Amino acid sequence: MSDPGSTELAAAIPVPLPGAGGAEPVNVLVVGVGGQGVIMVSKLIALLAQQQGYEVKQSEVHGMAKRGGAVFSHVRFGKLVWSPTIPKGEADFLVALEWAEGLRWLDYLRPGTGVFICDTKQIVPPFSCRDRRPGAALGYVRETVSDVIARVGEGYAIDATHMAEQLGNDRVGNVVLLGALSAALNFPAAQWEKIVADFVPKKTTAVNLEALRQGRRWIEEARKGLQHPASVPPPPSPTVADYRVRLEITPQWCKSCDICVKMCPERCLRLNAERIVELAAPDKCTGCRLCEWLCPDFAIRVHLDRTMAGAGMEAAR
Ligand code: SF4
Ligand code: SF4
Repeated sequence: MSDPGSTELAAAIPVPLPGAGGAEPVNVLVVGVGGQGVIMVSKLIALLAQQQGYEVKQSEVHGMAKRGGAVFSHVRFGKLVWSPTIPKGEADFLVALEWAEGLRWLDYLRPGTGVFICDTKQIVPPFSCRDRRPGAALGYVRETVSDVIARVGEGYAIDATHMAEQLGNDRVGNVVLLGALSAALNFPAAQWEKIVADFVPKKTTAVNLEALRQGRRWIEEARKGLQHPASVPPPPSPTVADYRVRLEITPQWCKSCDICVKMCPERCLRLNAERIVELAAPDKCTGCRLCEWLCPDFAIRVHLDRTMAGAGMEAAR
């Protein structure tokens, strides 16, 4: 393993320059969960490689695009590419938009030289909430950044989502990661900017370009030792005494679909006379968040308000 702040990354990059005659294709695996923009990232990489004169093959699999299902896309480019899928252990780059998804695909990275670029964003899936007792620990990965960096040739853990939020648009986290990748792939920076500007909606061009530049700058500074991997907070596991559950329901967004009512493990929701969801049995609600995760219209938010006993836990959640 090498220090993420080292300059070894440039030397390790296996990307052949156009016309340089690399016999093997370059393999980029992009992973994340539905709604994060995995497909957009892989399309941009594929388009750019095509414009540079490479043969490109791309394949993608997406689950529940809106509700947090796993999404991944293989992009392969080179002089000749026979198969659209990357064999295990042959990805030159793994770009992960979500922390646990990144870890799940680590075996696909090329041992010793594979470059891992991962957002530290944690999206805890509903099935991680198997133990419904109040305050039970979530079944989510617990590896730290150091654990993961130790397993890869080159590793970068970036708080891309936070950087996107700072830019005023939390949807451009994927472009921050694309910018980080752009510093590692040997295509001209101007070409990356052009492909992004051509692809995104015109009204978001400025923020997307800034996201791309910030991601690129982050890696360049990491090479000089000026940036450090972001940390990953452990998944929250407050105890029952630490918090009080509060449901925030936005009635005008509720479409009366009944999903949350049927899926609430504690049966504490119902539709009222206007067929808008309401919390019927607050004392039974464990704060498991299934209703928040499953509502297709984002009409429910679950808040865990800190109590005196749990000072400090709310921030972790
Ligand atoms: S899942 Fe959402 S839209 Fe459907 S009833 Fe519940 S709050 Fe309303
Ligand atoms: S109301 Fe929501 S947070 Fe509370 S127990 Fe039911 S699904 Fe979980």
